[in-house]
Amino acid sequence: MENQTGVIFRIKKYALHDGPGIRTTVFLKGCPLRCRWCHNPEGIAPEPQSMTPTGQANTRDAIIGNHVTAGQVMAEIRKDVIFYDESGGGATFSGGEPLMQPAFLTALLDLCRAEAIHTTVDTSGFASPETMAAVAPKTDLILFDLKLMDETAHRHHTGVSNDRILKNLAIVTASGTPVRIRIPLIPGITDSRENLEGIADRIRSVGAVNHVDLLPFHPAADAKYQRLGMANPMAGIEAPAADVVDDVKAIFRARGFDVKIGG
Ligand code: SF4
Repeated sequence: MENQTGVIFRIKKYALHDGPGIRTTVFLKGCPLRCRWCHNPEGIAPEPQSMTPTGQANTRDAIIGNHVTAGQVMAEIRKDVIFYDESGGGATFSGGEPLMQPAFLTALLDLCRAEAIHTTVDTSGFASPETMAAVAPKTDLILFDLKLMDETAHRHHTGVSNDRILKNLAIVTASGTPVRIRIPLIPGITDSRENLEGIADRIRSVGAVNHVDLLPFHPAADAKYQRLGMANPMAGIEAPAADVVDDVKAIFRARGFDVKIGG
């Protein structure tokens, strides 16, 4: 298990927003979606890639992404066990889309469980149903993204249908593993009342979900797009105003959800 290899692009220590307590978040590289608002564009391509330090063509590129073994990742995770124990934290596997590397993710989850380290999987929900069903019981918490209920709009703004995601939502909620729903609030894309009420009604109908995290758009990823030589589809778009976020919170509260801003 420790020899299983995968590709990661970052390990974040002392993370406070990727699950309960103090956590180490491991970002697995590769994502099948192309969300217009992606704030981790360096996590989309599955293989290591170059990123210019300043956006200038004649400077030396940094390589983003490493091939690593599960054992190497575990060595990093283990360093902060004392903080997990004190804070009720653990390890979070994010991305990109962590389910794109199912053997590597499974090895990491199994290794953490063997050492009683709490795990969280942060997923777009886009994976084969078999993979989702196999991974869900191996983790202690699932952060499951829902973006757009309208299939055409989902395809337009993320590059994929939401059909598989909604089917997988039923799989994870039936698995018995606790699930928190995460909703990116993207101005002009996901923030319509119709979309948000549709999401709220859907998660109410599948049951087993009480917690919703609203993730307001922030324009901080612009520099990363430049460094990757990628066009930023959200250039010039501002973060939603506080009163807009409060209105959205009220939609979910009215349906009995515990709502957090920012995850
Ligand atoms: S699912 Fe997440 S990582 Fe993948 S493109 Fe969308 S925002 Fe980016």
